[in-house]
Amino acid sequence: MAKKPTNKSSTQSPKTAAKPGSKPEADSRPAEPKKEEMAVATAPEARSPASKKQPEAQAPAKQKAEAVATGGAGKPSEPPATQDVASAAPRKSVEPASAGQKAPASRASSPVSQAKTEKQTVAESPAKPEPADLAPPSVAAPAQPQSTHVEEPLPPEEPAPKEEPAPEVHHYYHRPNLFIVQIAPEMAPVAKVGGLADVVFGLSRELAIRGNHVEIVLPKYDNMRYDHIYNLQVDYQDLWVPWYEGAIHCTVYFGFVYDRRCFFIEPHSHDNFFNRGSIYGFQDDVMRYAFFSRAAMEFLWKANKHPDVIHCHDWQTAMVPVFLYEFYQRMGMTHPRVCLTIHNYQHQGVTGGELLRATGLHDPERFFDYNRLRDNHHPNALNLLKGGIVYANFVTTVSPRYAFETKDQGQGFGLEPTLHTHHVKYGGVINGIDYDVWNSEVDCYIPVRYGVDSIEGKYDNKRALRHRLMLADNEKPIVAFIGRLDPQKGLELVRHAIFYALERGAQFVLLGSSPYQHINNDFWGLKHMLNDSPDCHLEIGFNEELSHLIYAGADMMLVPSRFEPCGLTQLVAVRYGTVPVVRSVGGLADTVFDKDYSDRPLYERNGYVFDHYDHPGLESALGRAISCYFEYPDHFRELMKNAMRCDYSWNRPGEDYLNIYDYIREK
Ligand code: ADP
Repeated sequence: MAKKPTNKSSTQSPKTAAKPGSKPEADSRPAEPKKEEMAVATAPEARSPASKKQPEAQAPAKQKAEAVATGGAGKPSEPPATQDVASAAPRKSVEPASAGQKAPASRASSPVSQAKTEKQTVAESPAKPEPADLAPPSVAAPAQPQSTHVEEPLPPEEPAPKEEPAPEVHHYYHRPNLFIVQIAPEMAPVAKVGGLADVVFGLSRELAIRGNHVEIVLPKYDNMRYDHIYNLQVDYQDLWVPWYEGAIHCTVYFGFVYDRRCFFIEPHSHDNFFNRGSIYGFQDDVMRYAFFSRAAMEFLWKANKHPDVIHCHDWQTAMVPVFLYEFYQRMGMTHPRVCLTIHNYQHQGVTGGELLRATGLHDPERFFDYNRLRDNHHPNALNLLKGGIVYANFVTTVSPRYAFETKDQGQGFGLEPTLHTHHVKYGGVINGIDYDVWNSEVDCYIPVRYGVDSIEGKYDNKRALRHRLMLADNEKPIVAFIGRLDPQKGLELVRHAIFYALERGAQFVLLGSSPYQHINNDFWGLKHMLNDSPDCHLEIGFNEELSHLIYAGADMMLVPSRFEPCGLTQLVAVRYGTVPVVRSVGGLADTVFDKDYSDRPLYERNGYVFDHYDHPGLESALGRAISCYFEYPDHFRELMKNAMRCDYSWNRPGEDYLNIYDYIREK
C-alpha cells in the first residue's frame, strides 16, 4: 500500500488542527526568484473559504442539537425552520463551547468547528464530559526557580528524600468504533458514473481501516460490474417496501466489493426500477431513487440495524433523513444520525406532489412548506436535495471553497437561502483519491513507475505516451486535458488552450467524451482539423487505462472549469508530478496553489492558477507554465516535486468525516 505522507489538506479538523507540530502557515524559506516569466497574470482574488465567513460567535456552554437541525438565524427569504422540524430531528447536545474556544483560530475552518463555534439559540442540555483531546495538554511538573546568588557551601547533610516528579497526565480521546451505513446510488467500480462512486468506495475503506464497521447499501442494477462482486448471495428474502397504497417486494443481496460489505436491493415490480441497462437518464429517475431511499431505510429497520451514522449522497438518497425522521424514528429507530454529502448542486431531484403519495408522506401541507421540501423557485414542486439539507444532521459538500460558493456566491442553484438557514450544520470536506490505484509508484498501467526521488522515470512515460499517440519526440512540454466534455468543464477554454499551447511551442493531448452528441461532434471536427499536427492528439472516448499513461506522461494538466465542486483530475495529476493549470474555483482553489502568486510557503505551491473565465485568464496561467518549463527547468522540476509531495489520500478526509460523525452521533 502506498505511504501516506504528512497532511496538507485545506480543511482543518477540530481534532487535528490543535495538534502540536502542524505546519506553520508562514513561509520560513528563502524568497523564490521573482516572477521571472509572466507578465499578464491575473492576481488571484483573496481566498475566502466558507469557514472564514462564519462568525466565530461564542456559543453557550452546552446546547441542544435542535439548533443543529433547525439551523441558526434564518434569512428573510427563507423562514427559519419551525419547531416541528426541530422535533423531527434528533435531540443532541453539542460539544462544550469551552473546548472549542481553546482551539486556535484556524480550527474554525473545519465544518464541525464552524458549527461548534456558531451562536446557537436553544436551551442548555445536561453537562457532558469534555472530550479529552480537546482538553488542556498534559500537566507538567512545576519548574524549579533558578538562583544566581552563590551561597557559602554548607556542610553536607542527609540528602532530602527525592521528590517524585508529577506523573505526566495525557488526555487521549478514544473515539469509539462506529457502525456506519452508506446509502448511495453509485459505488466504484461496480456502478460508477462520476466522482460520487469513487468517494463511496474510497471513504468506506478509510473508515473501515480506522476500526469502524462500514456497510454500503446500493440498488442492484442489471448493468453492474458483477465481476467485481465477491460471494454475492441473498441476505434478506422478503423485504416489502411501502409504495403508494401497497408495497413492492424486494430481495436484498449481500456481497463484498474489494472487502467493502455491500447490500444490493432488488425490487420486483413492473416499474423495473434498476434493470434498464444504465444508471441514470430516465423520466422517472426521481421516483426510482425515492423508492430506493425508502427501501434502504425499510431494510435497515427490518434487518434490525441501528447504525450510529447513516451517510447518504446527493439528491438520489437525500430522502433518507426525511424518511428517518418522518417514519422510522417514530417507530423506534431513534439512534442513527444522518450526514448528507452533496457532490454537485446542479442536480437536485425536483418533482411534483406525486412523490408524497408514492412514499406515504400523506400531508401535503406539511411537506409543501418552504421550511421543508418545497422548491425555492417552483412553488408547485418538491425538491429532494432541499429536503435532505433540512432534515440531515450534518450536510457536507466536497470542498470548503464550494461550500462557500454554494452558500454565498450564488452557485447553489437556488438552494442558497436554505443553506443560509442551515449554515450551522454545513461545511466542506475535500475528497481523497485512492493511492492504491492513482499512484505513480505502484501504477500497473504505466511502463515505468516513479516517485519524487526517481522522477526521471516520468520521462520514459512521456516517451511511451508520445509513441502511443504518435506524437513527435521533441523537447516540447505536453499539456493534457482529461475529463467529461461537459460545459461545466470549461470547454471553450479547452478549445482555446489547444491552439494557444501549440502556438507557444507545446504539445496537447485530450481525452474526453460527452453525453451530448453535438459536443462530441464538435470535438470530432476539431480532431479532424488537427489530424496532421505531430504535436496534438484528441482522443474522444472513455479510456481509463490511457488516462493513467497521460497522467504519467504529460507535463501539465489543464482544468479550466466554470465550476468544480472538488475535481479529481488535479488531485491525480499532482500525484504523478503533472503540474496542474487550473481555474480558481471550488475544490481546484482549495488544492492547487499558484507558483508565483500564492500566499502559501514555496514548498506548498504546486501549480498555476487563474481567476477569470476568459482567454487572457487562461493564457496568464498556461503561458507562465510553458515559459517556466522552457526557461527555468529547475524551477519547473521543483514544482513537480512539490506537487508529488502533496497528500490527497483519504487520510485527512477520513478524519474529517469521523469528526463530523462524532459530533452528530447520539452519545
Ligand atoms: P466529474 O466527477 O465532474 O466528472 P472529476 O474531476 O471529479 O470530474 O472526476 C473525473 C474523473 O474521471 C477523473 O479521475 C478523470 O481521470 C476521469 N475521466 C474523466 N473523463 C475520462 C475519460 N474520457 N477517460 C478516462 N477517464 C476519464
